[in-house]
Amino acid sequence: MDLLRLLADQRCAGCGVRGAVLCRACRGALPWLAGPLCLRCGEPEPQPTIRCPVCRRLGVKVETVRSAIALTGVGDALMHCWKDGARAPLAAFAAACVVAAVPRPAVDLIVPIPGARSRAAWRGVDGPHDLARQLGQRWQLPVQATVLERVHERPQRGLSAAQRQRNASGAFAARSRIGGRVLLVDDVMTTGATLRAGVRQLRQAGAERVDVITFARVVTTL
Ligand SMILES: [Zn+2]
Ligand SMILES: [Zn+2]
Repeated sequence: MDLLRLLADQRCAGCGVRGAVLCRACRGALPWLAGPLCLRCGEPEPQPTIRCPVCRRLGVKVETVRSAIALTGVGDALMHCWKDGARAPLAAFAAACVVAAVPRPAVDLIVPIPGARSRAAWRGVDGPHDLARQLGQRWQLPVQATVLERVHERPQRGLSAAQRQRNASGAFAARSRIGGRVLLVDDVMTTGATLRAGVRQLRQAGAERVDVITFARVVTTL
């Protein structure tokens, strides 16, 4: 990629002004998930809690789920730009947000949710994989990108929550046994159906415990 052209073309993902991935004003408007959270699943709650309705909906043995920002406003605009594929620095920017917002989890390795090459939403980029690589560099953790594979690629977009559950439950298979404490990484958590399927496969493949980190998250309780 022509780096000079990339920099010259750099526009704010939030408002389009030239010069940066996100301008100062839009950085100030990032919807950080910083308030009281469910200690387990990371859902914003009026006060810290250890179990919430989102935990119950996840219904899988997961240690913690954490995300940097809510999928709204500037956060939503960032996700759209990232998925557009022409914005190479956005994986690095997303990772920087995660590192700023989420403490490094006590894990041994990182596994990304397998990319959906045929999914029209992502144009030529593999967001979860790129984010996993960036986090691996920042946190000095190995990335095993081939542990999970996608066994069918029906897009989740446009499906109801119940349809997503059914669609995602058979979406992944573990290609190998895995040990230790695993961090599962995805770009965004919507209903949690994709993450549940990934966590389940990792646990069945031998992971001692699984933590989850996503860059953004659909927050239902805000
Ligand atoms: Zn802006
Ligand atoms: Zn919860």
